Amino acid sequence: MYRGYEAVIGIEIHVQLNTNSKIFCADSTQFNAADNENTSPVSVGMPGTLPVINKRAVEFAVKTGLALGCNIRRKSVFARKNYFYPDLPKGYQISQYDQPICENGTITFKVGENSKTVSITRAHLEEDAGKSTHQGDFTMINYNRSGIPLLEVVTGPDMSTPQEAAEYGRTIRQIVRYLGVCDGNLEEGSMRCDCNVSVRKVGDPKLGTRTELKNINSFRFVEKAIEYEIERQIDLVERGEKVIQETRLWDPDKNKTFTMRSKEDAQDYRYFPDPDLLPVVVSEDLISKLKSELPELPLARKARFVSAHGLPEYDAEVLTNEIDLANYYEETAKVCGNYKGASNWIMTELLRELNDNRLEITASPIKPAQLGQLIALIDKGTISGKIAKTVFSEMWKTGKDPEAVVKEKGLVQVSDPAAIEKLVDEVLAANAQQVEDHKSGKKKNLFGFFVGAVMKASKGQANPDLVNQILQKKLNG
Ligand code: ADP
Ligand code: MG
Repeated sequence: MYRGYEAVIGIEIHVQLNTNSKIFCADSTQFNAADNENTSPVSVGMPGTLPVINKRAVEFAVKTGLALGCNIRRKSVFARKNYFYPDLPKGYQISQYDQPICENGTITFKVGENSKTVSITRAHLEEDAGKSTHQGDFTMINYNRSGIPLLEVVTGPDMSTPQEAAEYGRTIRQIVRYLGVCDGNLEEGSMRCDCNVSVRKVGDPKLGTRTELKNINSFRFVEKAIEYEIERQIDLVERGEKVIQETRLWDPDKNKTFTMRSKEDAQDYRYFPDPDLLPVVVSEDLISKLKSELPELPLARKARFVSAHGLPEYDAEVLTNEIDLANYYEETAKVCGNYKGASNWIMTELLRELNDNRLEITASPIKPAQLGQLIALIDKGTISGKIAKTVFSEMWKTGKDPEAVVKEKGLVQVSDPAAIEKLVDEVLAANAQQVEDHKSGKKKNLFGFFVGAVMKASKGQANPDLVNQILQKKLNG
């Protein structure tokens, strides 16, 4: 709550579907192509060309709709959204209007400790426009992006804090990445977030006039921009001025939003069904096929990691963040049968190395089966946890199996009591004074010192349980 006001937030996210070709023609969608390399008469809007729908784009839209609990329209319609801009050579964008492919879904996610559910009003397919770059007196246009398939996911005006808005965005990103329909890369524009914000007196049933904060490219900025916008609007209302319906941009350097343009209403776009395209028909068969291909979604998977693998919430949260990480974890755990052990190794050693080396989990030089074998070696007592760290580093460097590393380096744990007793005797003989102090009780905590000394003498290879037992017997027994 803000000074007796509440904020109302609704979000539109453009999700770029990662098909190989564009939505209405065969041009490549490759991100790093040379300027205007990925173009053809269709994507630059030459008269006489005709669009043909990309089947995979439709499938990706349906998958996303299903994951968001939407109704899938069996027959949806493309419409022309008319406006003039140099990056839109046809003078209209092909989008969907009153008959979008997905409608009436919901999404639930966590905001801190609380669970939040947001309605998905619609998710419709459309084509992206080109990109203008202004340089001095010139404007240059690159049409590579023109015709890239987008799915615009629109929420109801259901959120009331900047934190909810940011978490909503992160959740959508996580889901589309789980589905494999979008890489979720905000910096490259694969996801673009428009936040609609208004304020009203607490209890007022009527929505206030909204502004739209456009194309914010990080969820941290989403949070900051909305926070700023709420305060700005309340200031206006408090001064007796009016909020103007407009599109604003976020300036991350100045931490401010500023006016981009006044916002059109739907009638300004003169929508009408595109006569060049047939309605998109989605069959029952296709829907059941796509439904059967849906992966277990993050929230469900996290809950299962807690209930079936006995993981703490925190571990489950981290491990299900990315589908590839969750898969890696389950493969590792299956090999060693130690679910918490696998989680510990991945969350500490493995994620640290991956972060330090800026690697994705799929590029890890240690494969899940190998990490599972390493954990099994510890659990069987073949190597100690300490030695395992050395083995792990070697595996990371060489990609070798843990058994091979242990053999090559002679790292097998010493579990022969006679051999350990010999080491213990040597250590006690070399530290007669400390033995004296320990026995007289003059110094406390010397036991740990002896354990450390024996472990060191064994180059870390003595079985620590045996070292403890034998020392107990000799010193305290
Ligand atoms: P448009 O397509 O012109 O942007 P929509 O009616 O489709 O407009 O709404 C776009 C987004 O704005 C939706 O997410 C909706 O929930 C949100 N929205 C609409 N009215 C308000 C309002 N008064 N305050 C905050 N958000 C709003
Ligand atoms: Mg909009």
